[in-house]
Amino acid sequence: MRYISTRGDAPALGFEDVLLTGLATDGGLYVPESLPHFSVEEIRSWRGLSYAELAYKVMYPFVEDAIPADEFRKMLDETYGVFTHKSVAPLVQLDTNEWVMELFRGPTLAFKDFALQLLGRLLDYVLEKRNQHVVIMGATSGDTGSAAIEGCRRCKHVDIFILHPYQRVSEVQRRQMTTVQGDNIHNIAVKGNFDDCQRMVKESFGNQSFLGGKTQLAAVNSINWARIMAQIVYYFQASLSLGGPDRSMAFSVPTGNFGDIFAGYLAKKMGLPISQLVIATNRNDILHRFMSGNKYEQHQLEQTLSPSMDIMVSSNFERLLFDLHGRDGAAVKELLENASKGPVSIEDYRWKHARKLFDSDAVDDKATCDTIREIFEQNEYLLDPHTAIGVRAARNCRRDNAVPMITLGTAHPAKFPDAIIESGLTVKPELPAHMADLFEREERYTVLENNLTEVQGFLAKHWKNA
Ligand SMILES: *Cc1c(COP(=O)(O)O)cnc(C)c1O
Repeated sequence: MRYISTRGDAPALGFEDVLLTGLATDGGLYVPESLPHFSVEEIRSWRGLSYAELAYKVMYPFVEDAIPADEFRKMLDETYGVFTHKSVAPLVQLDTNEWVMELFRGPTLAFKDFALQLLGRLLDYVLEKRNQHVVIMGATSGDTGSAAIEGCRRCKHVDIFILHPYQRVSEVQRRQMTTVQGDNIHNIAVKGNFDDCQRMVKESFGNQSFLGGKTQLAAVNSINWARIMAQIVYYFQASLSLGGPDRSMAFSVPTGNFGDIFAGYLAKKMGLPISQLVIATNRNDILHRFMSGNKYEQHQLEQTLSPSMDIMVSSNFERLLFDLHGRDGAAVKELLENASKGPVSIEDYRWKHARKLFDSDAVDDKATCDTIREIFEQNEYLLDPHTAIGVRAARNCRRDNAVPMITLGTAHPAKFPDAIIESGLTVKPELPAHMADLFEREERYTVLENNLTEVQGFLAKHWKNA
């Protein structure tokens, strides 16, 4: 399978190179040139498969040129074997035809483990084969960093540097990153916000000369194609558990960078019957404003109780725009260049086409807390603030009560105790046993100014063979 850039002006790559590359050289994101398509009969035949076996069926077409089938199966068994629930992504029922899919049973208690546990293994496999080393540079507003560090801690051929906004991630999230031991793990707290961190990562990928040509950067943020790929699987799993593919499903997805929900869009394109995707945002609602009024415009960043969704722009949205523009890279390039200068719209018929599948909602902190409280009172079930936004948006946007509505439960409530306190509940979400001593573990991180040269200098000096 070949991968092409959303801006139409970079070389097509195979899976191995896409895995190791961040942005395409033209500034775009890589997407598969064509998608595998599964018939309803074939999908139906997957009922009852284990998560790892299902993952193999869904993902193998994307990687088959690079990885032998038995190797890939082994990787998937290892990856999903460490999740603490046997079904890996269990469904919890909230009401008639209304569900939460718990995607937080992995090592760092957020859905990002699904992709990043696999990504670490994919990277080490490919790097070993090529006798190559990479430096992973990533920005996190919380969950990506811990999941990436956990995913790479055993990699032989990878150094990982994770930038997080100083004092702007929750203590649990910071500790999940800074308490992991390993010579190849480096945490940097940048005195800026998440978008500052993300910009530094983008600029570093654009010009890697600070590494002196001795190694290269690899991306683990949600623009990495392999992450999107791994997230397609659980849409199939949820559907198969609830009578799919013989009935369609609706999903509500707490959204920041549009990675997780884009995976749902791909699942549909690959043949899974999905009739509605709800984009659930917090007050950082650029996607909601676009979906409700066809206006794409950056606003100031707002800090919310759901920090993993605090973004000004949604990087993966470019991948959807590419499809909405009939895969015309030049058109996407022009649109996004204009978008960096001011508000933009797309042609009305393209926007209406998107609205056939997507709905959206923006949920503020108060409504988030109200939802946490309501669901706890009705179900004795504790939602984390991101998932609460998903549940709220699902209820506000639902089109058809006969269609199962599944909200992606993106994080464990113990990761975000502030929101639970704010909601007025007195229950205290407990960390699972394997993390009970998190607050006693020793932390390691370096605080740096919001300055690209300083951050790049730190990387150049501290990677393994520097
Ligand atoms: C990353 C994250 C999100 C947003 O996912 P995107 O793929 O960026 O849209 C939502 N909730 C939690 C808990 C996250 O960690």
